[in-house]
Amino acid sequence: MYAEIIINSNARALNRIFDYIIPKEMETSIKVGSRIFVPFGNGKKLEDGFVIGIKETSEFANKKIAKIDEQESLSEENVILAKLMARKYFCNISDCIKLMLPPGTGAKEIENRTKEKTGNFVYLQKTKEEIEKELVEGTIKSEKQQRALKVLIKTDGIYISDLEEIADVSKSILQTLNKNNYIKFVSEQIKRNPFINKNIERDFPKKLNEEQERCFNGINFCIENSEFSSNLIFGITGSGKTEIYLQLIASAIKQNKMAIVLVPEISLTPQMVDRFLARFGNQVAVLHSKLSIGERFDEWQKIKNGEVKIVIGARSAIFAPVKNLGIIIIDEEHDMSYKSEMTPRYDAKDIAKYIAEKSNCPLVLGSATPEITTFYHAKNRDIELYKLTKRANNATLPDVKIIDLRYELSHGNKSMISLELQDEIKKNLQKKEQTILFLNRRGYSTFIMCRECGYVAKCKNCNISLTYHKYENKLKCHYCGYEIPVMKECPECKSPKVKYFGTGTQKLEEEIHKLFPEATTIRMDIDTVSKKNSHEEILNKFKNENIDILIGTQMIVKGHHFPNVTLVGVVSADGTLNMEDYKAVEKTFQTIVQVSGRAGREQKKGRVYIQTYTPEHYAINLAQKQDYESFYNLEVDLRKRLKYPPFCDIILIKFNGKNLSEIQNISNRMYDTLNKILDKNQFILYKPVPSPVDKIQNKYRYRMILKGKVNLKLLDCIKYSMTENITSKIKETTITVDINPNNMM
Ligand code: ADP
Ligand code: ZN
Ligand code: ZN
Repeated sequence: MYAEIIINSNARALNRIFDYIIPKEMETSIKVGSRIFVPFGNGKKLEDGFVIGIKETSEFANKKIAKIDEQESLSEENVILAKLMARKYFCNISDCIKLMLPPGTGAKEIENRTKEKTGNFVYLQKTKEEIEKELVEGTIKSEKQQRALKVLIKTDGIYISDLEEIADVSKSILQTLNKNNYIKFVSEQIKRNPFINKNIERDFPKKLNEEQERCFNGINFCIENSEFSSNLIFGITGSGKTEIYLQLIASAIKQNKMAIVLVPEISLTPQMVDRFLARFGNQVAVLHSKLSIGERFDEWQKIKNGEVKIVIGARSAIFAPVKNLGIIIIDEEHDMSYKSEMTPRYDAKDIAKYIAEKSNCPLVLGSATPEITTFYHAKNRDIELYKLTKRANNATLPDVKIIDLRYELSHGNKSMISLELQDEIKKNLQKKEQTILFLNRRGYSTFIMCRECGYVAKCKNCNISLTYHKYENKLKCHYCGYEIPVMKECPECKSPKVKYFGTGTQKLEEEIHKLFPEATTIRMDIDTVSKKNSHEEILNKFKNENIDILIGTQMIVKGHHFPNVTLVGVVSADGTLNMEDYKAVEKTFQTIVQVSGRAGREQKKGRVYIQTYTPEHYAINLAQKQDYESFYNLEVDLRKRLKYPPFCDIILIKFNGKNLSEIQNISNRMYDTLNKILDKNQFILYKPVPSPVDKIQNKYRYRMILKGKVNLKLLDCIKYSMTENITSKIKETTITVDINPNNMM
């Protein structure tokens, strides 16, 4: 017998399928999914990999499998899914298999960790209070020692190697701390629990209202009878969607089944996680990118061993090794983070549907502003639709007003903030209530232009204008991070008349300080958020210290709960509207509705002000009224006329590389090939053209768009046109295929 094998390696040359002989004595134990070790090339070292197929004959196999790992293996379902994904998303099977292994760990590390019955941990030797006191008093002088201690205070026992990595310190720093009796090294195997320090009050099921009950019963039927179904819970924020999820999960657990809950980028939604912990305690495993490698590894093991019943995590948690799945829930299903923008470019919603079908369990999508495509399927009864029309806790919806910025300008107000919104902020400051200001652009000014000759400062690597960051006094490229000091005169004509245009969060914060010198502010954007837990720290600070105004980008939109926020200002609603992207209008609508949802979520009534240059635009008008269904009707008509999803798929084929003529050459050849083989009645193929951002990091970018319904035949045609035209001579161009991308740029 022979095995088809994928080697677990990033090396390009190893990224294909190899045949190996299965030794007689292993024939019964080796299965599809088995983890094995094989000799490779002339190397003495064994490489590890996975069996993805077994067959009776092979023309190529000449080496034998050396060893089998009985502990770690993939399931046969994993392998089937990985193969399917590789075909659909144009990537290697090994790229997909990586998603199904413990996150953040290569197979080598897994081996080390499982082999080690005892791990090398580090603990604090004094109490947290003592150390915190010393940190405040400044007795510990070394910054590196301070960093290590601060991490340890939070984690309560951690692998030594993880501490070194997270705190960015060397072993010798830790040894000094050990010598001075701050920390101790211990050899043992302990399950670290990232939530050990959270004191969460227990929470109990609520009696469901009529709408909730109908929804619960419909979906619960599928859990109890092990039936697949796709469901959408469509209800405004606060209408009780989460309460339904919690009770459905409780029902699944009662049947001894497990649950997967996907949430948008999880570090942005700590309060959502807290609610699951409050209801289910230690039956919950949390997977997210901000956990240390060891923490993630432990969560993964707990899931695999069935020690927990619920997995909650971002996109990739859909691949968690659950057994006996009872339900999959995708909260805020319209969120763009469910679609991966890296290889493999999968959509977690598609994978979730596939897994739910295979597991005979219901899939539940929830949103106040469903993706147009999802709602279209709900209208067509491909997805069961449950509407929740009331707020469960009787909180009132905020008053939403639209402000025409054209009027402000023509009446001499040059500030970013309209007079009316200024008044409202003033009122809030007096009442000691909090305000959130949303602006979807970071930095200070968007671009810099010479008024004499029209020169615009651009990144030298990317064909895109540089953004002015006032606090650092630098011009930065938001694509590649390239930065230069601010210029005093035009590099072209030496005129001193260089001027800053456009606005960002830094400038907004400065304006707020000018208008309201007494106000306290806090800013949240990529520039202020970088460390572990930093999102949570900023938001906790805003909440606990009752900071007057939170200024932020997209990041503040997600489901936080601030009882004292009564005013929300959308400083410019137009930012995303004019982008060259079929999803731009949908995104604008969703963002405005979501930001509005941040105001007045408890007893106090909220006010929302939306500033815009296009007050007549339907996305803005209907977002003001929180009228999703009217918005859907207009948008879906437009999509139908222009042939966009859900009426067809958009396949974006991107060419990227340093050699422009090679890109032009290969893209044209691919176009010609596809043009010959595709059925013109089913597909529209556009000629390759430079992308809207045509150069990033010195690499040229071209794109070719194909519209039509994706099916296996089409995928194979695309693959054929790629392989047909890629010869070994083409070295510098990478081609990626992205189906319904979030970002067309
Ligand atoms: P959503 O997920 O739609 O935003 P939640 O489930 O968070 O809504 O509900 C909003 C608030 O109302 C929460 O505090 C929740 O505990 C409460 N709630 C939900 N359903 C009920 C109910 N049937 N009875 C009482 N309170 C409820
Ligand atoms: Zn000039
Ligand atoms: Zn750049």
